[in-house]
Amino acid sequence: MSFKNFLPLLSLLLAACNSQTKIEPAIFNADMQTFSNYESVHTKHLQWDAEIDFTNKKVKGIATWSFENTKQVKQICFDSYALQIKKITVQGKEVKYHETELKTNFGSGLSIPIELTDTIVSIEYETGENAIALQWLSPEQTAGKKMPYLFTQCESIHARSLMPCQDIPANRITYNAKVKVPSGMMAVMSARNPTEKNAEGRYSFEMEIPVPTYLIALAAGDILYKAIDERCGVYTEPSMLEKAATELSDIPNMMKAAEELGGPYRWGKYDVLIAPPSFPIGGMENPRLTFATPTIIAGDKSLVSLIAHEMAHSWSGNLVTNATWNDLWLNEGFTTYFERRIMEKISGVEYNDMLWELGYQDMQSDFDALGITHEDTRLRIELKGRHPEEGFSNIPYEKGAVFIRMLEEGVGRKKFDAYLSKYFQTNAFKPMTTEKCLAFMDEHLFDGDKTLNEKLKVHQWVFEPGLPDNCIHKLPVRFTQVDITRKQFEKDGLTQKMVVSNWTTHEWLQFLRKIQHPLSTEKMKSLDDAFHLTGIGNSEIADEWYKLAISSNYEAAFPEMEKFLASVGRKKFLEPLYAEMMKTPSGKKMAAKIFEQSKQNYHPQTAKKIGKMLQG
Ligand SMILES: [Zn+2]
Repeated sequence: MSFKNFLPLLSLLLAACNSQTKIEPAIFNADMQTFSNYESVHTKHLQWDAEIDFTNKKVKGIATWSFENTKQVKQICFDSYALQIKKITVQGKEVKYHETELKTNFGSGLSIPIELTDTIVSIEYETGENAIALQWLSPEQTAGKKMPYLFTQCESIHARSLMPCQDIPANRITYNAKVKVPSGMMAVMSARNPTEKNAEGRYSFEMEIPVPTYLIALAAGDILYKAIDERCGVYTEPSMLEKAATELSDIPNMMKAAEELGGPYRWGKYDVLIAPPSFPIGGMENPRLTFATPTIIAGDKSLVSLIAHEMAHSWSGNLVTNATWNDLWLNEGFTTYFERRIMEKISGVEYNDMLWELGYQDMQSDFDALGITHEDTRLRIELKGRHPEEGFSNIPYEKGAVFIRMLEEGVGRKKFDAYLSKYFQTNAFKPMTTEKCLAFMDEHLFDGDKTLNEKLKVHQWVFEPGLPDNCIHKLPVRFTQVDITRKQFEKDGLTQKMVVSNWTTHEWLQFLRKIQHPLSTEKMKSLDDAFHLTGIGNSEIADEWYKLAISSNYEAAFPEMEKFLASVGRKKFLEPLYAEMMKTPSGKKMAAKIFEQSKQNYHPQTAKKIGKMLQG
């Protein structure tokens, strides 16, 4: 062969080689907010080896995925969010891959070529600077102030910033993990967990029950464990441990009540991690290990309904899972209803009625904010191409719950309870769509009786905006008394007759939410002097009080409010306070100043949202 002839041959050979290695870019599925091709080839099990690097604020990991190529396709696609991919092997052999450009909010698609017989892909990577699932805390931001701390929040589509994965709720995976943390720390996951620290900081985890990726969770820091009984316990920083265990001592009773309603608890242990104050949300139902905000530790067990909520997710959400984020009400509406049933058992009907009413008020405020005809006030919403978290309002929670409460009253509790238990048992470990849920309801709750379905206005509840007229709304007996006291205060100011000694948090919330404002400085001061509301440790009451302080320009409360805003990271408290400040020019200045001082304590997602709010 002459050299002259060789060149064209070489280019032909190279072309053939390129066509073999040509990797199609992953295609973004806007309906499911994923780049993964899970409907063709889906992941089944994860072996995760990770090292937590606190110095560089990175997780360095190898995610080894076992998969099933159901449609015999030539590549497997993953979601990835700002991950730095180091190396990918398929069946142990290094391969080339393709990564799409970063799509705002959704990350990139990672496509990896596979042969039809392949079953294992291994991806070595590091998390990026903007890993939205991770919050890194400096020692100063923890309760103990000795060690840094890391926790994750993967719902809704943030798991892709922790590891490359097929990040959709419809696919379930089991996992094993080996995690290395600095010596002296404990790591915990949504899995079988250690109960003691080990000297090397090496921990192994197993989650043998299949879960969607949004339920993968990790926390690491100066964490200790205290058992409440043989099944339940608390993980938290040492200085919080006794207090948290006392506050949560009703968990075993809650679990008993939950099992009576939902059937046996399927996950083995049920523990709660009380996270540091900057935890951005109330709680996260990570299986086996609920993550919860320390703001529920009020000292009088008055805020533990949040644990009932996360526990209830062990059935609605973790067992029967919304197939898409459009169906979020299936997770949250059923859970909020379930939570109230647990609380009714634990604290009685009168107490529980207050929880229903405050939830109803939260729902109403979202109806007011969005407008009663807004499409997102439907239970089954449409999130195509939008970030799933645009659907996380009070509507799926509270409208979902009052819908289910209406069904219960419509058919009677006995029949309803039998249906609910059957719903969980029959559909366990399966993705659930709104359509499938309604078909199951038709068959097992209405026994095929179409007139009953129509009479209860099921279609209107689920697919139409606003609130149907058969919604149950009863004013709680205990709030009637609060309203009398409030009116008296509005008219005469503070008098000897104002008896509040038996008030729970909920009665205070009703009082502060409904009071006509702005109040005069004199009236604000009289309340503050009598009940020490400025600086109060109960964060729910504090939040309502500071809102009132802003609208009434009660400056004496502002220094403590600033401290509250700097230490608490829970969105539920931060957003309304910043929104209230944004209503006046002087408030805007104050908001900007406080945000500047406090933003490093907020979760990146929360800081981003509030930052936007302050610009608008
Ligand atoms: Zn929930």
